[in-house]
Amino acid sequence: MSESATYDAATYVDLAPARSGREAATPRRGSRTPPGRQAPRLAAEPSPSEWSGPRSRLAVAIDDLAAIDVDALSDAELRQHLADLRQPLARLTALRASWSASLESRAIAGAPPQQRGSAQRDGRLAFADEHQLTPSEAKRAVEAGKAARQHPETGQAFLAGDLSPEHVRVIDEVLGAVDAEHRDLLEQQLLDLARGRNAVQFGRDARALLVSFSPEDAADAGKRKLARRRVRATDTADGGFAFSGLLYGTAAETARIALDAFTRPDVAGEHRTPDQRAADGFEQLCAAALRTDAAPSQHGARPQVLVVMDAEQLAHHEQDAGTGAAHFVRSGQPVTTTELGPLLDDCHLVRVVLDAERTPIEVSEAVRTVPTGLWRALLVRDGGCTWPGCDAPAAWCDVAHGHTSFARNGRLAPDNAALLCRRHHRRFDSGPWRIEVRGDRVSYQRTDSTEREVRNRSP
Ligand SMILES: [Zn+2]
Repeated sequence: MSESATYDAATYVDLAPARSGREAATPRRGSRTPPGRQAPRLAAEPSPSEWSGPRSRLAVAIDDLAAIDVDALSDAELRQHLADLRQPLARLTALRASWSASLESRAIAGAPPQQRGSAQRDGRLAFADEHQLTPSEAKRAVEAGKAARQHPETGQAFLAGDLSPEHVRVIDEVLGAVDAEHRDLLEQQLLDLARGRNAVQFGRDARALLVSFSPEDAADAGKRKLARRRVRATDTADGGFAFSGLLYGTAAETARIALDAFTRPDVAGEHRTPDQRAADGFEQLCAAALRTDAAPSQHGARPQVLVVMDAEQLAHHEQDAGTGAAHFVRSGQPVTTTELGPLLDDCHLVRVVLDAERTPIEVSEAVRTVPTGLWRALLVRDGGCTWPGCDAPAAWCDVAHGHTSFARNGRLAPDNAALLCRRHHRRFDSGPWRIEVRGDRVSYQRTDSTEREVRNRSP
């Protein structure tokens, strides 16, 4: 139906439970028609049978919205239509949370005491499956639904579309920290605070409110939350290392600062996603941690990235004859010498001679590391990563071999070496770049067709 081009979604998709007289007297926040826009009526009312149940009424309303010819709308109209969806969607989300919480309460009440845990788990998994939610999304929804029933004022605001499930969970957490007699007063303040704040901002401000309201209760709540701290790390089938976690308090702040400190903005010509920037930052953070003496030693040796490779594979790589095969000791994951690039420039090599049964019979150390004198010279000359625009300090840097790589018997001398942070070392090694060292200036040039010169940081 073309008339529905100015359809006001909030007028029709009304899913709140029957309103009490008090609520009906005052219009809900956000449901009013914006100034200058008249609330249009549908051209044809659906037939009575279509209004017989909430589900069919909802389907009709959504069909009307889906029939809108988006291409015929101006940007402003489209923006308004999109804005009109916010509240009905929020109300549907709240309703789903509330109903799923009711269902869970029934399942738990109906189960024998020793099976209540599994009844809850099974119910949430089924809910997640049916609604294409992740288990944690389903858990958050059910918890918000439960909290909304425990705190009726919050429940009303939730069903009116004024709060997200995350807001409700924050309110529940804060109210749960104080004595019952203080809850009503605090709930009002929290509802006022929630308006216009996203869940993260609101959570921060709500906890600040709790701290000023009752520091002792806030401290206890903080302690309880600490029990939920976790970091999970697993090897993935495709050779990756996946991790996720949740930290609170000082641990959270320490991690934020450390990751921020090692996450650097893109330089010219670099286009990373925020996730990729954080991943590079995390690698640099870990590399820096292993470089210090702070990491506990094992069997007298500092923890290091260890790689095993046959002598002939290394020779293959060094003669520039192609990619050699190797594997990481800790994980057993295979890796190619190409991927190892930056590590092979500055490393300790240990020669292990094996007998016919591949039992080690002789171990000797051949050092292929950067001499202290050269490191100091580069520290003075380069100061940090020499990649144009990069501000990574020297402590993060590898010594990269210059125009002649170690593989091709490159001499380790200041005119054939430069400091590069791990990410730019990798970029240099894997891209069409040529380094030029002239006196105390290091510059990089592309060797492909564009031949664009990029300059070193100013000293
Ligand atoms: Zn860099």
